[in-house]
Amino acid sequence: MQERQLVLVLNCGSSSVKYKLYEMPGRKLISSDYLEQIKRDEYEKAIASIFEKLPLDDVSIIAHRVVHGGEAFKQSVIITDEVKQEIDRLSRFAPLHNPINLIGIEAAQKLRPEALHVAVFDTAFHQTMPPSSYLYAIPYEYYEKYGIRKYGFHGTSHRYVMNRAQEMMEIPKEKLRLISCHIGSGVSITAIRYGESLDTSMGMTPLAGLSMGTRSGNIDPGIIPYIEEIEGTDITGAMDVLNKRSGLLGVSGHSNDLRDVMKKAEEGDLRCQLAIDLFTTLLHKHIGLYLARLNGVDGIIFTAGIGENSPEVRQMVCAGLEFAGVILDNEANRKTKGEGFISSPYSPVKVMVIPTNEELVMATDAYQIYISSPEIALG
Ligand code: AMP
Repeated sequence: MQERQLVLVLNCGSSSVKYKLYEMPGRKLISSDYLEQIKRDEYEKAIASIFEKLPLDDVSIIAHRVVHGGEAFKQSVIITDEVKQEIDRLSRFAPLHNPINLIGIEAAQKLRPEALHVAVFDTAFHQTMPPSSYLYAIPYEYYEKYGIRKYGFHGTSHRYVMNRAQEMMEIPKEKLRLISCHIGSGVSITAIRYGESLDTSMGMTPLAGLSMGTRSGNIDPGIIPYIEEIEGTDITGAMDVLNKRSGLLGVSGHSNDLRDVMKKAEEGDLRCQLAIDLFTTLLHKHIGLYLARLNGVDGIIFTAGIGENSPEVRQMVCAGLEFAGVILDNEANRKTKGEGFISSPYSPVKVMVIPTNEELVMATDAYQIYISSPEIALG
């Protein structure tokens, strides 16, 4: 019998704090809540107000989400002073996220110093990528000296759905080639070979890859100085266009929320229809890329807000992949709520909807570290 422990999962985002409290190893969700529209100097207070409502004395493990783990963190780790220094150093790649993740860690450590604090990184799962996936074709010294390379994100989500897919397919992950499509307000696709990330669409930062709610995804970098010129702005202004005014919002001119864009398109708005066409075509093409990278695929997974809830997007993305053995069951695709197969029983490639659960992965990681560190577990 493994001992029961309360594990608090804390996610300090760029303007929100979310938490989930689990009882492990039973994976029982005890409580959850979130606070939004938090300004930078309010995080400590927000965390204190969350902690006030929790049975804090019984919480022995706290898992913290950290966006950028660079090359230093290939898996979840116990947070030490050196770990905090490295997270701080990596702020250069994630200036909106890592500093806030650190504020959350320090506030929680102050309020509950007796707990084991564990960092779980969005980038860690992708550390298995080979250089042919993670290098950019720019001077090699930029990688060696400054760490300019692809890191990838949403790793905790891709890892969760990979593990669920192997359970659903009843085939061990060491034998599976999967394409995992995380399609929410952020979008990334990962090629997973035999349990490991082989390639992923996001880059050194989360701006790269597919078109998203407000982010452009990949563009010709030559466009950036031209945006500066036509907008009469500097690099910060141009990056703002690509981060905040592009994607579904930029093309539709209407909204970054797919539901709103789809409603308008149904009413005949051509820009909204175009935004949906571009969004789904880019996803479709990227799956093609990974079909080549993996030399074929055993399963395709759809997850996150859009992937889990939009049969229309799933249908548009999979249409024209019949050549690769992807055959959707239209009724299953329409009807599936939550987890399930949406491919025809005759489809050589299984297509699945799997609601993601990053917090459960974080709680599991932190609990595993706790029980495998006897000196900590014994107090
Ligand atoms: P996430 O970032 O994973 O929370 O996903 C958020 C996005 O999911 C929103 O911007 C919506 O566009 C999208 N979404 C949520 N529910 C639906 C739905 N029923 N149909 C289409 N899109 C949805």
